[in-house]
Amino acid sequence: MIRLFPERGGWLEVVCGPMFSGKSEELIRRLRRAEIAGQRALVVKPRIDDRYDIGHVVSHAGAKMRAVAVGRPEEIPGLAEQYDVIGIDEVQFFPGAGSAVGQADDARREDRAAYGDPGNIVLVIDVLVERGKRVVASGLDQDFRGLPFGAMPELLCRAELVDKLQAVCHRCGGPATMTQRLVDGYPASADGETIVVGALDSYEARCRACHELAEPSTAAANSRAASSTWMRVPAPVQSGS
Ligand code: ADP
Ligand code: MG
Ligand code: ZN
Repeated sequence: MIRLFPERGGWLEVVCGPMFSGKSEELIRRLRRAEIAGQRALVVKPRIDDRYDIGHVVSHAGAKMRAVAVGRPEEIPGLAEQYDVIGIDEVQFFPGAGSAVGQADDARREDRAAYGDPGNIVLVIDVLVERGKRVVASGLDQDFRGLPFGAMPELLCRAELVDKLQAVCHRCGGPATMTQRLVDGYPASADGETIVVGALDSYEARCRACHELAEPSTAAANSRAASSTWMRVPAPVQSGS
């Protein structure tokens, strides 16, 4: 198949797939090539987990590129003004239409009127593309349950170019399209929170056949059993006494 890039104006490329499928690597590769071609490239990522290298996008294999961590989608157009190519990693963590963040405080009502809802990553990307930017957005297409993640369905639908990457299934070595969440080594149940920052969870890439979701009660019981034997929760620090 031959794919052609638009010859003028902006466009959106989406790179999706499960964890470990090489989304961040691919984002970095595309933006580096843009820089080699003399274009100005900016990478942004959501400031959701700032304990881990807030100033870079880092791939599991160690590839690294400077990135700006942003709190809300509406911060991106201002940052992007001087750039030709905008990379957005972990785009699934940004709020889409109708999200709590998008409907936040009254102070932002005027902003919202200016171009739709600036708290919505889909509309923010639309603004960037309208201004002639090339946007490369990478993120998880599915959450750990296998359900569409955040604004990804709408971004995939609107994109000029889409790539769905596969990882290697940690179980069977086959092509993996799903992300397995493990809590204390056991499959997580479907009733957990979608985004758990700083939790003791771990993740694997899995194919559909190897992907598992625990019954809600089983996961809770496993987790309780494990935590009572080896997990120590430090006592809260008393202050001012
Ligand atoms: P993503 O951003 O999709 O999570 P990364 O770009 O951070 O992926 O990492 C991709 C790299 O992870 C691969 O090049 C490979 O070196 C490494 N890796 C580790 N585990 C796996 C796996 N199960 N499948 C594929 N790549 C893996
Ligand atoms: Mg990544
Ligand atoms: Zn498998």
